Amino acid sequence: MNFDLIIEAGTLVTCDDNAGWVLENKSIAIKDGMIVAVEDSTPSTWAAKNKINAKSRLVMPGLVNAHAHLPMNFFRGLADDLPFEEWLFKYILPLEARLVAPDFVRIGTELATLELLSMGVTTVCDMYYFEDVIADVLDKAGLRACVGESVADFPMPDCKEAPKNNYKILDRMRERYQGHARIKPVLAPHAPYSCSDETLKEAMRYADKFGMDFTIHVSETKNEVEESFKKFGMSPVKRLWNLGFMQHKSIFAHGVHLSDEDIELIAKSPVGISYNPESNMKLGSGTTRVPELLKRGIKLGLGTDSVASNNDLNLFKEMDVGAKLQKLSNHDNTALTAKECLKMATFQGAEALNIPNVGKIKSGYCADLIILDMRKPWLEPRHDVLAQLVYACNGSEVETVICHGEVLMENKKYLKSDLEKTFSEASAYRRSMQF
Ligand SMILES: [Zn+2]
Repeated sequence: MNFDLIIEAGTLVTCDDNAGWVLENKSIAIKDGMIVAVEDSTPSTWAAKNKINAKSRLVMPGLVNAHAHLPMNFFRGLADDLPFEEWLFKYILPLEARLVAPDFVRIGTELATLELLSMGVTTVCDMYYFEDVIADVLDKAGLRACVGESVADFPMPDCKEAPKNNYKILDRMRERYQGHARIKPVLAPHAPYSCSDETLKEAMRYADKFGMDFTIHVSETKNEVEESFKKFGMSPVKRLWNLGFMQHKSIFAHGVHLSDEDIELIAKSPVGISYNPESNMKLGSGTTRVPELLKRGIKLGLGTDSVASNNDLNLFKEMDVGAKLQKLSNHDNTALTAKECLKMATFQGAEALNIPNVGKIKSGYCADLIILDMRKPWLEPRHDVLAQLVYACNGSEVETVICHGEVLMENKKYLKSDLEKTFSEASAYRRSMQF
Protein backbone atom coordinates (compact mmCIF):
# COMPACT_ATOMS: atom_id res chain seq x y z
CA MET A 1 0.00 0.00 0.00
CA ASN A 2 1.32 3.42 -0.95
CA PHE A 3 0.86 6.40 1.34
CA ASP A 4 2.02 10.00 1.37
CA LEU A 5 3.45 9.85 4.88
CA ILE A 6 4.09 7.27 7.58
CA ILE A 7 4.74 8.34 11.18
CA GLU A 8 6.23 5.81 13.57
CA ALA A 9 5.20 6.89 17.05
CA GLY A 10 6.79 5.82 20.33
CA THR A 11 3.90 7.09 22.44
CA LEU A 12 0.61 7.87 20.76
CA VAL A 13 -2.11 9.95 22.44
CA THR A 14 -5.15 9.25 20.27
CA CYS A 15 -7.84 11.28 22.13
CA ASP A 16 -10.07 8.39 21.04
CA ASP A 17 -12.05 6.58 23.75
CA ASN A 18 -12.60 3.51 21.55
CA ALA A 19 -8.93 2.90 20.80
CA GLY A 20 -7.60 3.83 24.26
CA TRP A 21 -6.10 7.24 24.87
CA VAL A 22 -2.43 6.32 25.28
CA LEU A 23 -0.83 3.64 23.10
CA GLU A 24 2.78 2.63 22.53
CA ASN A 25 4.67 1.83 19.32
CA LYS A 26 2.09 2.58 16.66
CA SER A 27 2.47 3.50 13.00
CA ILE A 28 0.18 6.03 11.34
CA ALA A 29 -0.47 6.04 7.58
CA ILE A 30 -1.51 9.29 5.90
CA LYS A 31 -2.86 9.80 2.39
CA ASP A 32 -4.51 12.82 0.76
CA GLY A 33 -4.53 14.75 4.03
CA MET A 34 -6.30 12.02 5.99
CA ILE A 35 -5.27 9.36 8.49
CA VAL A 36 -6.03 6.09 6.71
CA ALA A 37 -4.62 3.52 9.16
CA VAL A 38 -3.14 3.17 12.64
CA GLU A 39 -1.32 -0.15 13.17
CA ASP A 40 1.14 -1.90 15.50
CA SER A 41 4.59 -1.17 14.06
CA THR A 42 4.89 -0.59 10.32
CA PRO A 43 3.47 -3.49 8.25
CA SER A 44 5.89 -4.72 5.56
CA THR A 45 3.26 -3.95 2.91
CA TRP A 46 3.35 -0.20 3.71
CA ALA A 47 5.35 2.25 1.60
CA ALA A 48 5.38 6.04 1.56
CA LYS A 49 7.09 9.03 -0.05
CA ASN A 50 8.00 10.34 3.39
CA LYS A 51 8.53 8.64 6.74
CA ILE A 52 9.00 10.31 10.13
CA ASN A 53 10.73 8.35 12.86
CA ALA A 54 9.09 9.48 16.10
CA LYS A 55 9.88 6.30 18.04
CA SER A 56 11.42 8.31 20.88
CA ARG A 57 8.71 10.96 20.70
CA LEU A 58 5.05 11.51 21.62
CA VAL A 59 2.51 11.98 18.83
CA MET A 60 -0.88 13.55 19.47
CA PRO A 61 -3.57 15.48 17.56
CA GLY A 62 -2.81 19.10 16.67
CA LEU A 63 -4.44 21.54 19.08
CA VAL A 64 -7.57 23.56 18.31
CA ASN A 65 -7.74 27.21 19.38
CA ALA A 66 -11.48 28.00 19.44
CA HIS A 67 -11.22 31.78 19.82
CA ALA A 68 -8.55 34.24 18.69
CA HIS A 69 -7.95 37.60 17.04
CA LEU A 70 -4.63 36.85 15.39
CA PRO A 71 -3.63 40.27 13.97
CA MET A 72 -3.86 41.78 17.47
CA ASN A 73 -0.33 40.45 17.86
CA PHE A 74 0.79 44.09 17.49
CA PHE A 75 -1.12 44.96 20.72
CA ARG A 76 0.69 42.44 22.93
CA GLY A 77 1.69 44.13 26.17
CA LEU A 78 -0.16 47.35 25.34
CA ALA A 79 -2.68 48.80 27.81
CA ASP A 80 -2.39 45.90 30.26
CA ASP A 81 -3.86 45.97 33.77
CA LEU A 82 -6.82 48.26 33.06
CA PRO A 83 -10.54 47.80 33.82
CA PHE A 84 -12.28 45.88 30.99
CA GLU A 85 -14.46 48.73 29.66
CA GLU A 86 -11.54 51.17 29.74
CA TRP A 87 -9.27 48.60 28.05
CA LEU A 88 -11.80 47.90 25.26
CA PHE A 89 -13.47 51.25 24.64
CA LYS A 90 -10.62 53.67 25.46
CA TYR A 91 -7.71 51.72 24.01
CA ILE A 92 -8.37 48.69 21.83
CA LEU A 93 -11.32 49.88 19.72
CA PRO A 94 -9.89 53.40 19.04
CA LEU A 95 -6.45 51.93 18.25
CA GLU A 96 -8.06 49.46 15.87
CA ALA A 97 -10.06 52.22 14.18
CA ARG A 98 -6.83 54.18 13.62
CA LEU A 99 -4.29 51.47 12.83
CA VAL A 100 -5.97 48.39 11.38
CA ALA A 101 -5.40 48.08 7.63
CA PRO A 102 -4.76 45.14 5.27
CA ASP A 103 -0.98 45.20 5.91
CA PHE A 104 -1.46 45.38 9.69
CA VAL A 105 -3.69 42.33 9.47
CA ARG A 106 -1.45 40.39 7.10
CA ILE A 107 1.81 40.94 9.00
CA GLY A 108 0.17 40.48 12.42
CA THR A 109 -1.32 37.17 11.28
CA GLU A 110 1.97 36.00 9.75
CA LEU A 111 3.63 36.53 13.14
CA ALA A 112 0.75 34.79 14.90
CA THR A 113 0.93 31.73 12.64
CA LEU A 114 4.55 31.20 13.68
CA GLU A 115 3.47 31.28 17.33
CA LEU A 116 0.58 28.88 16.65
CA LEU A 117 2.91 26.43 14.93
CA SER A 118 5.52 26.67 17.71
CA MET A 119 2.87 25.74 20.25
CA GLY A 120 1.35 22.88 18.25
CA VAL A 121 -1.88 24.54 17.13
CA THR A 122 -3.21 23.26 13.79
CA THR A 123 -6.74 24.72 13.89
CA VAL A 124 -7.78 28.23 14.88
CA CYS A 125 -11.05 30.13 14.92
CA ASP A 126 -10.28 33.77 14.18
CA MET A 127 -12.55 36.81 14.33
CA TYR A 128 -11.38 40.17 13.01
CA TYR A 129 -11.45 42.75 10.19
CA PHE A 130 -10.15 42.26 6.64
CA GLU A 131 -10.66 38.59 7.39
CA ASP A 132 -10.16 37.71 3.72
CA VAL A 133 -6.51 38.76 4.14
CA ILE A 134 -6.26 36.61 7.28
CA ALA A 135 -7.80 33.66 5.42
CA ASP A 136 -5.13 33.97 2.71
CA VAL A 137 -2.29 34.02 5.28
CA LEU A 138 -3.66 31.00 7.14
CA ASP A 139 -4.20 29.11 3.90
CA LYS A 140 -0.64 29.87 2.77
CA ALA A 141 0.68 28.75 6.16
CA GLY A 142 -1.14 25.41 5.69
CA LEU A 143 -3.25 25.74 8.85
CA ARG A 144 -6.91 24.81 9.36
CA ALA A 145 -9.19 27.69 10.33
CA CYS A 146 -12.61 29.19 10.78
CA VAL A 147 -12.25 32.74 9.53
CA GLY A 148 -14.87 35.09 10.94
CA GLU A 149 -15.46 38.45 9.31
CA SER A 150 -16.79 40.97 11.84
CA VAL A 151 -20.29 42.40 11.73
CA ALA A 152 -21.20 45.23 14.14
CA ASP A 153 -23.02 48.52 14.50
CA PHE A 154 -19.87 50.53 15.25
CA PRO A 155 -17.74 51.77 12.34
CA MET A 156 -15.11 49.13 11.67
CA PRO A 157 -11.67 49.48 10.05
CA ASP A 158 -12.93 47.59 6.99
CA CYS A 159 -16.49 48.94 7.02
CA LYS A 160 -16.75 52.59 8.08
CA GLU A 161 -20.42 52.75 7.16
CA ALA A 162 -21.50 50.08 9.71
CA PRO A 163 -24.18 48.97 10.52
CA LYS A 164 -24.90 49.14 6.77
CA ASN A 165 -22.49 46.32 6.23
CA ASN A 166 -21.55 45.83 2.63
CA TYR A 167 -20.70 42.15 3.09
CA LYS A 168 -18.15 42.46 0.30
CA ILE A 169 -15.42 40.80 2.34
CA LEU A 170 -17.72 37.92 3.23
CA ASP A 171 -18.65 37.52 -0.43
CA ARG A 172 -14.97 37.40 -1.36
CA MET A 173 -14.13 34.84 1.35
CA ARG A 174 -17.09 32.70 0.39
CA GLU A 175 -16.19 32.69 -3.28
CA ARG A 176 -12.58 31.83 -2.50
CA TYR A 177 -13.00 29.37 0.36
CA GLN A 178 -16.45 27.82 0.68
CA GLY A 179 -15.93 24.05 0.36
CA HIS A 180 -12.14 24.45 0.93
CA ALA A 181 -10.48 21.51 2.71
CA ARG A 182 -9.02 23.66 5.53
CA ILE A 183 -10.40 27.21 5.48
CA LYS A 184 -14.02 27.79 6.52
CA PRO A 185 -15.49 31.30 6.26
CA VAL A 186 -17.97 32.18 9.02
CA LEU A 187 -19.86 35.29 10.11
CA ALA A 188 -18.62 37.00 13.25
CA PRO A 189 -21.15 39.40 14.76
CA HIS A 190 -18.98 41.14 17.37
CA ALA A 191 -21.36 40.69 20.33
CA PRO A 192 -25.06 41.10 21.18
CA TYR A 193 -24.26 44.48 22.81
CA SER A 194 -22.64 45.82 19.64
CA CYS A 195 -25.25 44.47 17.19
CA SER A 196 -28.86 45.65 16.93
CA ASP A 197 -31.64 43.16 16.33
CA GLU A 198 -31.71 44.24 12.68
CA THR A 199 -27.93 43.76 12.29
CA LEU A 200 -28.20 40.25 13.74
CA LYS A 201 -31.19 39.45 11.52
CA GLU A 202 -29.30 40.62 8.44
CA ALA A 203 -26.38 38.37 9.42
CA MET A 204 -28.80 35.45 9.87
CA ARG A 205 -30.31 36.04 6.43
CA TYR A 206 -26.82 35.96 4.91
CA ALA A 207 -25.88 32.81 6.89
CA ASP A 208 -29.09 31.06 5.82
CA LYS A 209 -28.65 32.00 2.19
CA PHE A 210 -25.11 30.66 1.99
CA GLY A 211 -25.13 27.92 4.65
CA MET A 212 -22.62 29.57 7.00
CA ASP A 213 -21.92 29.28 10.74
CA PHE A 214 -21.34 31.98 13.34
CA THR A 215 -18.80 32.96 15.94
CA ILE A 216 -19.76 35.70 18.42
CA HIS A 217 -18.69 37.03 21.85
CA VAL A 218 -21.49 36.35 24.37
CA SER A 219 -21.89 37.20 28.07
CA GLU A 220 -18.24 37.94 28.68
CA THR A 221 -18.76 40.46 31.47
CA LYS A 222 -21.27 41.04 34.26
CA ASN A 223 -21.81 44.58 33.01
CA GLU A 224 -22.76 43.34 29.53
CA VAL A 225 -25.50 41.12 30.99
CA GLU A 226 -26.80 43.90 33.27
CA GLU A 227 -26.95 46.32 30.31
CA SER A 228 -28.85 43.71 28.27
CA PHE A 229 -31.47 43.43 31.04
CA LYS A 230 -31.76 47.23 31.18
CA LYS A 231 -32.06 47.67 27.42
CA PHE A 232 -33.93 44.53 26.33
CA GLY A 233 -35.33 43.13 29.59
CA MET A 234 -33.50 39.84 29.11
CA SER A 235 -30.07 38.21 29.05
CA PRO A 236 -27.94 38.29 25.86
CA VAL A 237 -28.52 34.53 25.42
CA LYS A 238 -32.31 34.86 25.77
CA ARG A 239 -32.26 37.68 23.24
CA LEU A 240 -30.27 35.58 20.75
CA TRP A 241 -32.69 32.69 21.39
CA ASN A 242 -35.74 34.90 20.76
CA LEU A 243 -34.21 36.23 17.54
CA GLY A 244 -33.76 32.67 16.23
CA PHE A 245 -29.97 33.15 16.20
CA MET A 246 -29.39 29.99 18.21
CA GLN A 247 -30.92 27.78 15.54
CA HIS A 248 -27.65 28.34 13.69
CA LYS A 249 -24.43 26.46 14.35
CA SER A 250 -22.38 28.95 16.35
CA ILE A 251 -19.57 29.13 18.80
CA PHE A 252 -20.11 31.59 21.64
CA ALA A 253 -16.83 32.99 22.89
CA HIS A 254 -16.60 33.28 26.70
CA GLY A 255 -20.10 32.47 28.03
CA VAL A 256 -18.86 33.59 31.45
CA HIS A 257 -22.03 35.06 32.95
CA LEU A 258 -24.67 32.45 32.10
CA SER A 259 -27.81 31.87 34.17
CA ASP A 260 -29.34 28.40 34.60
CA GLU A 261 -31.92 29.41 31.98
CA ASP A 262 -29.16 30.50 29.55
CA ILE A 263 -27.46 27.11 29.98
CA GLU A 264 -30.78 25.33 29.32
CA LEU A 265 -31.24 27.29 26.07
CA ILE A 266 -27.67 26.57 24.93
CA ALA A 267 -28.14 22.85 25.71
CA LYS A 268 -31.23 22.82 23.46
CA SER A 269 -29.32 24.48 20.58
CA PRO A 270 -26.41 23.54 18.29
CA VAL A 271 -24.28 26.23 19.98
CA GLY A 272 -20.82 25.44 21.35
CA ILE A 273 -18.77 27.57 23.73
CA SER A 274 -15.16 28.64 23.72
CA TYR A 275 -13.77 28.65 27.26
CA ASN A 276 -11.03 31.32 27.41
CA PRO A 277 -9.72 31.13 30.98
CA GLU A 278 -6.58 33.25 30.75
CA SER A 279 -8.29 36.14 28.97
CA ASN A 280 -11.21 36.01 31.43
CA MET A 281 -8.80 36.00 34.36
CA LYS A 282 -6.61 38.79 33.01
CA LEU A 283 -9.57 41.06 32.23
CA GLY A 284 -11.20 40.15 35.55
CA SER A 285 -14.34 38.97 33.73
CA GLY A 286 -15.18 35.90 35.80
CA THR A 287 -15.21 32.13 35.39
CA THR A 288 -17.18 30.12 32.83
CA ARG A 289 -19.36 27.43 34.48
CA VAL A 290 -17.49 24.62 32.72
CA PRO A 291 -18.64 21.62 34.82
CA GLU A 292 -22.33 22.59 34.43
CA LEU A 293 -21.91 23.12 30.67
CA LEU A 294 -20.15 19.78 30.22
CA LYS A 295 -22.82 18.03 32.31
CA ARG A 296 -25.48 19.35 29.92
CA GLY A 297 -23.60 17.91 26.93
CA ILE A 298 -22.63 21.33 25.55
CA LYS A 299 -19.56 21.21 23.29
CA LEU A 300 -16.70 23.21 24.72
CA GLY A 301 -13.56 24.40 22.99
CA LEU A 302 -10.57 26.15 24.51
CA GLY A 303 -9.50 29.57 23.27
CA THR A 304 -6.75 32.04 23.98
CA ASP A 305 -8.60 35.16 22.78
CA SER A 306 -6.15 37.81 21.54
CA VAL A 307 -2.66 38.34 22.87
CA ALA A 308 -3.84 41.76 24.08
CA SER A 309 -5.70 39.96 26.86
CA ASN A 310 -3.68 36.78 27.44
CA ASN A 311 -0.73 37.54 26.35
CA ASP A 312 0.06 34.53 24.18
CA LEU A 313 -1.49 31.91 21.90
CA ASN A 314 -0.26 28.95 23.98
CA LEU A 315 -2.92 26.27 24.44
CA PHE A 316 -0.70 24.16 26.71
CA LYS A 317 -0.79 27.01 29.23
CA GLU A 318 -4.49 27.48 28.57
CA MET A 319 -5.22 23.82 29.42
CA ASP A 320 -3.20 24.05 32.64
CA VAL A 321 -4.71 27.34 33.79
CA GLY A 322 -8.20 26.32 32.58
CA ALA A 323 -8.22 23.18 34.71
CA LYS A 324 -6.80 24.91 37.77
CA LEU A 325 -9.23 27.83 37.55
CA GLN A 326 -12.19 25.43 37.63
CA LYS A 327 -10.72 23.51 40.57
CA LEU A 328 -10.19 26.77 42.44
CA SER A 329 -13.52 28.41 41.71
CA ASN A 330 -15.51 25.22 42.40
CA HIS A 331 -13.41 24.32 45.49
CA ASP A 332 -13.20 20.87 43.93
CA ASN A 333 -10.07 19.37 42.41
CA THR A 334 -12.17 17.07 40.20
CA ALA A 335 -14.09 20.01 38.64
CA LEU A 336 -12.12 19.82 35.39
CA THR A 337 -9.66 17.01 34.68
CA ALA A 338 -6.59 16.87 32.44
CA LYS A 339 -8.43 14.53 30.08
CA GLU A 340 -11.40 16.89 29.79
CA CYS A 341 -9.00 19.75 29.00
CA LEU A 342 -7.32 17.70 26.28
CA LYS A 343 -10.74 16.93 24.77
CA MET A 344 -11.57 20.65 24.67
CA ALA A 345 -8.20 21.45 23.10
CA THR A 346 -8.65 18.76 20.41
CA PHE A 347 -11.75 17.03 19.02
CA GLN A 348 -14.37 18.67 21.22
CA GLY A 349 -13.07 22.09 20.22
CA ALA A 350 -13.34 21.04 16.57
CA GLU A 351 -16.90 19.79 17.17
CA ALA A 352 -17.79 23.08 18.86
CA LEU A 353 -16.55 24.80 15.69
CA ASN A 354 -18.57 22.38 13.54
CA ILE A 355 -15.42 21.05 11.86
CA PRO A 356 -15.90 17.30 11.39
CA ASN A 357 -13.22 14.60 11.78
CA VAL A 358 -10.55 16.74 13.42
CA GLY A 359 -8.81 16.25 16.76
CA LYS A 360 -8.31 12.48 17.07
CA ILE A 361 -5.66 10.14 15.74
CA LYS A 362 -7.95 7.68 14.12
CA SER A 363 -8.56 6.32 10.63
CA GLY A 364 -10.94 8.65 8.78
CA TYR A 365 -9.77 11.75 10.68
CA CYS A 366 -7.82 14.64 9.17
CA ALA A 367 -4.07 14.19 9.45
CA ASP A 368 -3.49 17.05 11.90
CA LEU A 369 -0.77 15.85 14.27
CA ILE A 370 2.02 17.18 16.42
CA ILE A 371 5.20 15.49 17.61
CA LEU A 372 6.65 16.33 21.02
CA ASP A 373 10.02 15.62 22.60
CA MET A 374 9.06 14.63 26.14
CA ARG A 375 12.66 13.97 27.30
CA LYS A 376 12.79 17.06 29.48
CA PRO A 377 13.79 17.51 33.12
CA TRP A 378 10.37 18.99 33.89
CA LEU A 379 8.61 15.91 32.50
CA GLU A 380 10.29 13.22 34.59
CA PRO A 381 9.09 10.77 35.73
CA ARG A 382 6.16 10.05 33.46
CA HIS A 383 3.54 8.42 35.68
CA ASP A 384 0.60 9.85 33.76
CA VAL A 385 1.02 11.10 30.19
CA LEU A 386 -2.21 13.12 30.13
CA ALA A 387 -1.34 14.88 33.38
CA GLN A 388 2.14 15.65 32.00
CA LEU A 389 0.66 17.17 28.84
CA VAL A 390 -1.75 19.42 30.75
CA TYR A 391 0.04 20.29 33.99
CA ALA A 392 3.76 20.06 33.13
CA CYS A 393 4.28 20.71 29.41
CA ASN A 394 4.79 24.33 28.37
CA GLY A 395 4.60 24.01 24.58
CA SER A 396 8.37 24.14 24.03
CA GLU A 397 8.26 20.34 23.63
CA VAL A 398 6.53 20.65 20.23
CA GLU A 399 9.03 19.80 17.48
CA THR A 400 7.01 18.91 14.42
CA VAL A 401 3.58 20.03 13.19
CA ILE A 402 1.54 18.39 10.46
CA CYS A 403 -1.76 19.76 9.17
CA HIS A 404 -3.91 18.01 6.58
CA GLY A 405 -1.01 15.64 5.93
CA GLU A 406 1.46 18.42 5.17
CA VAL A 407 4.52 18.95 7.38
CA LEU A 408 4.49 22.65 8.34
CA MET A 409 7.22 22.61 10.99
CA GLU A 410 9.87 19.90 11.29
CA ASN A 411 12.27 19.71 14.22
CA LYS A 412 11.32 23.32 15.05
CA LYS A 413 12.10 24.54 11.52
CA TYR A 414 9.26 26.33 9.73
CA LEU A 415 8.96 24.76 6.29
CA LYS A 416 6.47 27.20 4.74
CA SER A 417 7.30 30.44 6.56
CA ASP A 418 10.38 32.63 6.73
CA LEU A 419 10.98 33.56 10.37
CA GLU A 420 13.61 36.26 9.74
CA LYS A 421 11.63 37.90 6.95
CA THR A 422 8.45 37.94 9.07
CA PHE A 423 10.33 39.39 12.06
CA SER A 424 11.99 42.18 10.07
CA GLU A 425 8.79 43.09 8.24
CA ALA A 426 6.85 43.10 11.54
CA SER A 427 9.38 45.28 13.35
CA ALA A 428 9.53 47.78 10.44
CA TYR A 429 5.74 47.93 10.38
CA ARG A 430 5.53 48.34 14.17
CA ARG A 431 7.98 51.26 14.05
CA SER A 432 5.81 52.95 11.38
CA MET A 433 2.75 52.94 13.67
CA GLN A 434 1.89 55.56 16.30
CA PHE A 435 0.51 53.66 19.29
ZN1 LIG B 1 -12.46 37.80 21.65
